Amino acid sequence: MEQINCQGCGVLIQTHSESEIGYAPPSALEREDVICKRCFRLKNYNEVQDVDLTEDDFLSMLHEIGDKDGLVVNIVDLFDVHGSFVRGLNRLVGNNEVVIVGNKVDLLPQSINLNKVKNWLKRVAKEFGLKVKDVYLVSSVKGTNMEETAFELERLRKGKDVFVVGCTNVGKSTFINFLINRSIEQEQVITTSYFPGTTLGFIDIPLDDESSMIDTPGIINDHQMAHYLSKKDLKTVTPKKEVKPKVFQLEKDQTLFMGGLARLDIDKVDYQKGFICYFSNDINIHRTKTDKADLLYDQHLGELLSPPTDETIETISELEGQTFQLDSHQKQDIVFSGLGWITVPKGQTTVTAYAPKGVRVLVRDAII
Ligand code: GDP
Repeated sequence: MEQINCQGCGVLIQTHSESEIGYAPPSALEREDVICKRCFRLKNYNEVQDVDLTEDDFLSMLHEIGDKDGLVVNIVDLFDVHGSFVRGLNRLVGNNEVVIVGNKVDLLPQSINLNKVKNWLKRVAKEFGLKVKDVYLVSSVKGTNMEETAFELERLRKGKDVFVVGCTNVGKSTFINFLINRSIEQEQVITTSYFPGTTLGFIDIPLDDESSMIDTPGIINDHQMAHYLSKKDLKTVTPKKEVKPKVFQLEKDQTLFMGGLARLDIDKVDYQKGFICYFSNDINIHRTKTDKADLLYDQHLGELLSPPTDETIETISELEGQTFQLDSHQKQDIVFSGLGWITVPKGQTTVTAYAPKGVRVLVRDAII
């Protein structure tokens, strides 16, 4: 097949994979001006759609942004912050200012102090080497704080382009679509236009005569649980509404199972303590004695300990444990990437945290 580039975003057209960048159905190739499905949706339905990019292409894309002049908006998923930060962004944004938008704030318990979350997010950004101009917390599905954020972005961009970047699934498309709908009310016309010199699928949404909001493809984060689950199970583990924290008083030699997808053993703790679990309300959390845990898992995976259900069990790898010695003056979170987290009270505690091989488990200062 001869090489064809999208007339909208410049990306190389392919016809084999719908979720990947540059997809167009074979019938589209018969037209004179071929555009990819993503540009087609924007042009005809005023709606952006995320597409996946490989890591190399993603890094090249960030390089391109570094060479341009604009405001970089990095969207992260508040329910999976460490899994959704864009690694290497600090080195690649050049002199451009960066703001972080923490999306899905509707999932955090309502009692939470959002200013603390903001400051926490600033500290995390610093750990990633990222100097951020500001942090905003929004729900792009519910519209929470979106108007204020749009207003602030408008002010911060100082007439320049806005580059919106993020991993897949953080809600980047929902965020942009909200902004598009908002501007349609103001009767602006949305078009796509070829972004000269790039072949990496930047989608250009005009903000005014001189500048644009640029939607960039997202990168897949392989460490997230999402890549290991069936569609059905993914639905169960992805919280849809405010997560209700569940507290378990635990002592040495007790174990918690989060369905059959994650497990936490309390190896050592100075006294009985409350461990707070933040997971989708649809995940069953089951407490048992550590010496019974292996047997329980072998006998009840997919029933008492579910999800996973059948389809996932066939493909998912075994749980792998990692021991953490926490000796801290602050509360810490044990995070199961893309699934949720458990807050461990301060003091000396040793735990072994299990997740399917490949899924990242990490310790961070408590978000709440
Ligand atoms: P993208 O891949 O980054 O473009 O993400 P999408 O916009 O496609 O959203 C990914 C998933 O997150 C979808 O199931 C959305 O419904 C959901 N989502 C997006 N924004 C929010 C939000 O503010 N709150 C909640 N609870 N879910 C959201």
